[in-house]
Amino acid sequence: MLKIALQSKGRLNEESLELLQSIGIKLDDPKRKFLSKAKNFDIEALYMRDDDIPQLVATGTAGLGIVGLNEVEEKGADVQVVSKLGFGNCRISLAVPKNVEYVGLEYFNGKRIATSYPNILSAFLKEKGIDAKIEVITGSVEIAPAAGIAEAIFDIVSSGSTLVSNGLVEVEKVFESEAVLIANRNLDAHERAVLDELLFRIESSIMSRGKKYLLMNLPDASLDEALKILPSMRSPTIMPLASKGWCSLHSVVDESTLWEKIKQLKAIGAEGILVIDLDKIII
Ligand code: ATP
Ligand code: MG
Repeated sequence: MLKIALQSKGRLNEESLELLQSIGIKLDDPKRKFLSKAKNFDIEALYMRDDDIPQLVATGTAGLGIVGLNEVEEKGADVQVVSKLGFGNCRISLAVPKNVEYVGLEYFNGKRIATSYPNILSAFLKEKGIDAKIEVITGSVEIAPAAGIAEAIFDIVSSGSTLVSNGLVEVEKVFESEAVLIANRNLDAHERAVLDELLFRIESSIMSRGKKYLLMNLPDASLDEALKILPSMRSPTIMPLASKGWCSLHSVVDESTLWEKIKQLKAIGAEGILVIDLDKIII
């Protein structure tokens, strides 16, 4: 049975489990055990600290894993990054106390930088020709400047509120991360087939994010105009209505453009517009 390593607790745990659930994979007793089997899919979840997931997948203890790209990069794990998953978004940035005069990357020459990501940081400093000392600390990196451990930090930022509350300011965004599905490079044919099915389901679930299904009644005379407003996956579905000269038009639209499109459609006579949540898109 193919094992998938998931974070046992922490920021990625819930969304990883939700993703599996949303694609019809029911794990018995998630969270409560070290291992839990799926009832209806040939997969078994293995709950681990996120730091250990890249290595477990690289060695094949688990065939698959869901983890932040930051951990994959930091651990230098030789795994296949199969798919970005669209959650756990964050960046790793350099930050300095807000009262210092930041002049650019040269600021870091001769300085101490506290981080839990020494490998990503040292590669970045090397590439930029900066000579700084890396102080590795595993937690509460943001207190390092106030504690006199370092003059700067290199840490995960998402909203930036932790930096602000510690009197720090983000000065360089170095690495963009999100949760990714990773796979061992030597899966056998059966395991590959399970991964392909999983990936197919994940993609249809990801594709439906931020999309809405739109239905409306439209005068036949406005159809050409409507087709210009609504580019669809192949083309919108058009069905005749019982009342002559009218049709029903169905399409999928991006939520970000929804209200703009509705305005345009109303202007050409669309009525009875329904907006429906989409669960999966399979193309
Ligand atoms: P573990 O106990 O599993 O080692 P952790 O404390 O190392 O957990 P979390 O804080 O749960 O890790 O973060 C897990 C991952 O979530 C990070 O590696 C990163 O990919 C992602 N993430 C997204 N936003 C943030 C954020 N604001 N702070 C920290 N991690 C974030
Ligand atoms: Mg960790």
